[in-house]
Amino acid sequence: MTRTVYVKGQYLPENEGKISIFDRGFLFADGVYEVTAVVGGHFVDYDLHQERLERSLRELSMGWPCSKDDLKTMHLELVKRNNLAEGWVYMQITRGAADRDFKFPKDAKPSLVAFTQAKELVDNPDAVKGVSVITVPDIRWARRDIKTVMLLAPVLGKQAAAEKGAFEAWMVEDGKVTEGTSSNAYIVKNGKVITRELSNAILAGCTRRALFRLMAENGIELEERAFTPEEALQADEAFLTSASNFVMPIVEIDGKRIGGGQPGPVARQLRALFLEEARKQ
Ligand code: PLP
Repeated sequence: MTRTVYVKGQYLPENEGKISIFDRGFLFADGVYEVTAVVGGHFVDYDLHQERLERSLRELSMGWPCSKDDLKTMHLELVKRNNLAEGWVYMQITRGAADRDFKFPKDAKPSLVAFTQAKELVDNPDAVKGVSVITVPDIRWARRDIKTVMLLAPVLGKQAAAEKGAFEAWMVEDGKVTEGTSSNAYIVKNGKVITRELSNAILAGCTRRALFRLMAENGIELEERAFTPEEALQADEAFLTSASNFVMPIVEIDGKRIGGGQPGPVARQLRALFLEEARKQ
């Protein structure tokens, strides 16, 4: 089925969606994005993603391409036109098209594009078995708190993982895990969930934020601090979170099984709590 995509104010068949070769997203990765999950035809944590988008735009002094209401209407319209029951909406805003020059262009209008991707997120077989991760050096820039389309380091990390048959790569800096290439990283020890505190070193995951609330409501203990890959190998459980994976149990790190090679009880409980919440939205 041909998808309907959104390109700078127009809904078009996917093969007709075109963007200028002068677009600064293409030339400089001068753009930001969000991926919002859809379950049962409804968005999961839409407002959290919009809040983060607003921050990303502000941090880069980038303008809005349209009003927030129009952005929401566009999201809803894409879900409707594509009959999307489960999957996600990807949206990207760049600083627009202008003659190639590093400094901000004076008159360029921000470009907004978006598309849907159908995917089974709830009944994901990976979540039943658990997934494996490898560790790689974190070679990204210093503002990982901004969700930019500058994703070459994550591309290389994910490729290295794929070549080893792993699902994700955990990035390591100064001996500590920062996060996954497209997910936040967690371990569980004696029932306590441990994950790195927010800073410019990681992206503030919307799933992470939503999960923290569920953990507090359900009396699950949380410690925000960095951990080493060695500590992760000694942990009872590990898992990752992202908008498209929700809570994904990890059963192997760098080829070594953790938690007996089975998804752990805390990760399973958190996934169940998250899914319950997602279905309600
Ligand atoms: N960290 C990075 C580097 C990411 O790219 C992502 C998502 O793409 C996340 C964490 C998880 O964020 P979210 O839960 O908002 O999807």
